[in-house]
Amino acid sequence: MSTQVSVKSRLSSTVASLKPSGIRRFFDLAASMEGVISLGVGEPDFVTPWRMREASISSLERGYTAYTSNAGMLELRVEIAKYLEERFSVSYHPDKEILVTVGASEAIDIALRAILDPGDEVLVVEPCYVSYEPVIRLAGGVPVFLKTKMENQFKLTPEELEKHITARTKAIIFCYPNNPTGSTMSAEEWQALLPILQKNDLLVISDEIYGELTYGRMHDSIAALPGMKERTILISGFSKAFAMTGWRLGYVCAEPELLAGMLKIHQYTMLCAPTMAQMAALEALRHGRSDMERMVESYRQRRNYVVDGFRHIGLDCHEPEGAFYAFPSIAPTGLSAADFAEKLLMEEKVAVVPGDVFGESGHGHIRCSYATSMEQLKKALDRMEHFVSRLS
Ligand code: PMP
Repeated sequence: MSTQVSVKSRLSSTVASLKPSGIRRFFDLAASMEGVISLGVGEPDFVTPWRMREASISSLERGYTAYTSNAGMLELRVEIAKYLEERFSVSYHPDKEILVTVGASEAIDIALRAILDPGDEVLVVEPCYVSYEPVIRLAGGVPVFLKTKMENQFKLTPEELEKHITARTKAIIFCYPNNPTGSTMSAEEWQALLPILQKNDLLVISDEIYGELTYGRMHDSIAALPGMKERTILISGFSKAFAMTGWRLGYVCAEPELLAGMLKIHQYTMLCAPTMAQMAALEALRHGRSDMERMVESYRQRRNYVVDGFRHIGLDCHEPEGAFYAFPSIAPTGLSAADFAEKLLMEEKVAVVPGDVFGESGHGHIRCSYATSMEQLKKALDRMEHFVSRLS
């Protein structure tokens, strides 16, 4: 009799059934080739501004190497509260309503784990960030996808929202400015959804990690709208606005009872976010505004360039008002998004992400990150023009 045990059988059924990320699979392929221009990665191309790096180095020199309090350094939470009030008109108490996390990623995870019972449904607006579905499933929840369309600039309509609410619906995840579409929501657009959210007593998980990256008007946080703070879990972080992806620092804000629930998970699983990263974040909020504005201005210029470029090639592209992604339609080429991306990579060495990786609503689109140098963007668009002209 064999004593061998299959490894798969030792995994939980939830983990065993999770699909590997479609983005990763594609980029492993791109990484194995030479001369590839990548419009694939979802992170700033800037190195973290020196003042944040210096603040962190200096804290290490001064011996700040121990744990901080579970919720994060109080000075940092005070700065986060001031920043959110000043930028987005939302007020959170630094002591009871803000928790510093290991990236926005941890914040999404603990928010879901804190509120879900097995089988609870969570609405997710598609196309969406690739982590939401697996993280909901890992928390025992059931994701329910809401569709959006390019005709509506990928904004959620009240009809689509209402159609999917059931007795099991506990929460909805929003991500505006959006990854992958670059779409945003204005206060007026939020207003149309609020009565439905309130009538059905839904919790809102609002992933505002791209909140600083808007081009035109300031980001409108759903938490700032009347009656919404109580039911919103606001998530943000330092990765995108301050080019600090590798530092792993984010935060979550919610009313005290919800925050205490999340803190229970965080204190047992993380203890606290990295101290040296908290030191850098403190500097970012105190003195990093001009660095951030410089980076945002650069994204704005590149956005204009790529959107014009796609339209010139004949690929319809809605104007992304935020984040650093364009999401053009590739319908005129007659190819599926996966075939388009694969052929483009093989024939022209440009890596983009097929839109359906972000859910069914992404069919017929590709996600292109413009967080790369203008020079690379120009080359990538030339290569894409060549590719598309050969197809037609
Ligand atoms: N939310 C969205 C929508 C993102 O695009 C990302 C990063 N790609 C994250 C959360 C994770 O951010 P962090 O680095 O703070 O964990």
